[in-house]
Amino acid sequence: MNTQFSLIQSIDALLPQTQCGLCGHRDGCLPYAKSIAEGEDANKCVPGGQPVADALASLLGRDKLTAEESVWPTQSDGRPQRMKAVIREDECIGCTKCISACPVDAIIGSGKLMHTILTDLCTGCELCIPPCPVDCIDLVEDLQSVPTDIIRIAEQNDLRDRYYSHIQREEKRRVDRKGPVVRAEIDTALFAQFSAQSTAMPDIQVAEKPEPVAVKLDAKTTIELAKIRTQIKKLEKQLSVREDANKRQMLEQLTAQLNALQGASA
Ligand code: SF4
Ligand code: SF4
Ligand code: SF4
Repeated sequence: MNTQFSLIQSIDALLPQTQCGLCGHRDGCLPYAKSIAEGEDANKCVPGGQPVADALASLLGRDKLTAEESVWPTQSDGRPQRMKAVIREDECIGCTKCISACPVDAIIGSGKLMHTILTDLCTGCELCIPPCPVDCIDLVEDLQSVPTDIIRIAEQNDLRDRYYSHIQREEKRRVDRKGPVVRAEIDTALFAQFSAQSTAMPDIQVAEKPEPVAVKLDAKTTIELAKIRTQIKKLEKQLSVREDANKRQMLEQLTAQLNALQGASA
């Protein structure tokens, strides 16, 4: 394990793992940890507040800086108030957009059905709020008592695991193009590189999209295909204006012919 990797891991261990991107690193805590190791100021983690900024300064032997301010009041442990998201379920249209946006998979529900947030898992990161088309997600104060250091570390480790599973699933979905990819694409390669260096981190693999099979067509087939496509387009245009049984049948035949020719040449 190299020194730089150990340093990034130590920095990451102090970050809350909310994966909110408020530090300016869209993809969450690990990219910020890497950037801190490379020299970025260590006071930008908003949910971590002053305690995290100070802990990082001590770890790195740097001057203590004032932490980036949160919009929430400060709790008894010096960190900003913990929040939770709640869906107004009677207004939810079941579009599933919030599921993909939640970095720790704290939302359950499926297409066209009401969605619910698993309160225990929610970190109040707010990432589910912008994608909701009907604006039915609220943030409320987390009324649970402030966690002890041991509980917080266990929570952080769990959130990191959940985020890495989320990244792996989103990566697969991005490649398969299934479901909405609401959040900007995560730099999976960075996480894969780090997870490969430690058994403590869940494994992440960059999913490879199969290369499209190169199809070589002879000149005759190419001309034939172009002709069929032109006829199909013409018929589709005509049918969009007025339905005609003969033309519909012709369109179906031409489409089948096109598929057969393409299949034969693949
Ligand atoms: S929890 Fe802190 S370090 Fe992690 S993404 Fe949010 S602001 Fe950045
Ligand atoms: S439910 Fe929303 S606020 Fe809670 S962790 Fe998921 S994305 Fe963040
Ligand atoms: S984004 Fe909003 S409307 Fe869509 S499933 Fe989530 S809570 Fe419901």
